[in-house]
Amino acid sequence: MKELQVLKFGGTSVGSPERFNMVAKLIVNDAPKIVVLSAVSGTTNWLVEIAAEYAKGNTNGAYLLIDKLNEQYEHFIKELYHSEATLIKGRELIHAHFEFIRSFGKKIFKVFDEKVILAQGELISTALFHYYLEEKGVRSVLLQALNFMKIDEDSEPDMQFIEENIAKELAAYPASDYPQLFITQGYICRNAFGEIDNLKRGGSDYTASLIGAAVNATEIQIWTDIDGMHNNDPRFVENTRPVAELSFDEAAELAYFGAKILHPSSIRPAKLKNIPVRLLNTMEPEAKGTFIGPKSAQPSQPIKAVAAKDGITAIKIKSGRMLLAYGFLRNVFDVFARYKTPIDMVTTSEVAVSVTIDTTEHLNAIVNELLTFGTVEVDHDQTIICIVGDFLAEKQGYASRVFDALKNIPVRMISYGGSDNNISLLIHSEKKKDALKALHKGLFQLTIDN
Ligand code: ASP
Ligand code: MG
Repeated sequence: MKELQVLKFGGTSVGSPERFNMVAKLIVNDAPKIVVLSAVSGTTNWLVEIAAEYAKGNTNGAYLLIDKLNEQYEHFIKELYHSEATLIKGRELIHAHFEFIRSFGKKIFKVFDEKVILAQGELISTALFHYYLEEKGVRSVLLQALNFMKIDEDSEPDMQFIEENIAKELAAYPASDYPQLFITQGYICRNAFGEIDNLKRGGSDYTASLIGAAVNATEIQIWTDIDGMHNNDPRFVENTRPVAELSFDEAAELAYFGAKILHPSSIRPAKLKNIPVRLLNTMEPEAKGTFIGPKSAQPSQPIKAVAAKDGITAIKIKSGRMLLAYGFLRNVFDVFARYKTPIDMVTTSEVAVSVTIDTTEHLNAIVNELLTFGTVEVDHDQTIICIVGDFLAEKQGYASRVFDALKNIPVRMISYGGSDNNISLLIHSEKKKDALKALHKGLFQLTIDN
């Protein structure tokens, strides 16, 4: 396969006709590429609400929402297209999709229908964009993600299927006859039963990196509305800065533990194929953003960033039987595994083990089973603070800076040494803002002053 780049533009990057224009300017050049688009910003949320009305049996409520969204798109295309011919095509497209969404009001709503409704957002945005390029006289090829993106029974990407089928799609459009400018939908896929499904909210990033891995892309670019991954959460802390470089592992930890800019699974496919990922800002295309690659080399700043993940529940199991026993942890973990509940953090002492989970769906059942081992304490409203960096290179006691910065914050759990690039701390969510600010001051502002 030829040298391809994969560029993903998120909802805000395609959120208005002006943004369509900005994206067009960024992608129309000679480099062969696959462009992955999200739904126009706000659309997926809106579709979630429409599906919720249907699920409640409130067809009229759903129709009301559909009409409003439909109207927004009417305005959108009027502003977007200049020629009457393209406007007519755009109208027909919108009409077809909204009629389809309305058609669910005439039958019994099933669980999987929601996925089909959600998929319309990306199907609409990509088709509108394809027409937009066409109107500008730019030839492009619209690839249907539903022909090649697939997840298996465990909702994991079916990499072999994706590789084979995207290769087939691309082969149908050889460079001799077609422009190597491919547009496709993020987020949407088929599941093991061939039904329309998705890669979970924010999944367009994941699409981009799966496609990048499947075609062995030279680079994966994730274009959003912020200039890269910041060293702290800009919603809570002032003077955060973009991190210039992160290793795959550092970026994965940050994405998982709260840095909202990237879907948590999206680093893995890129890492497996060693494909660099760049986080870039559509509104400020010259900004360097964040480069994510095999190994980051910024020894002067081993601690890269801080992120926080809310909605965590901590569970402590105390048992006399743990003392000098083997197999105890395995039995504890087994309970969580049976309820398909992932554990994020673990700390142990000789008589107790604490773990954290971020989904409480099966909490009662889990606690009931754990009670057979000893006493169980549950703490809700916890937050994981994750400090990411190269702690192997950490020779000057940077870890102690973390604890120093947090000296006024009660810490419930600490996890250090599990990987070379992460220290995780568990605190009460009420203290999150203070903790993030204190860490910012202690870890990053000192370096600025130095
Ligand atoms: N449109 C989907 C969402 O809003 C996927 C994405 O934008 O990444 O979650
Ligand atoms: Mg996103």
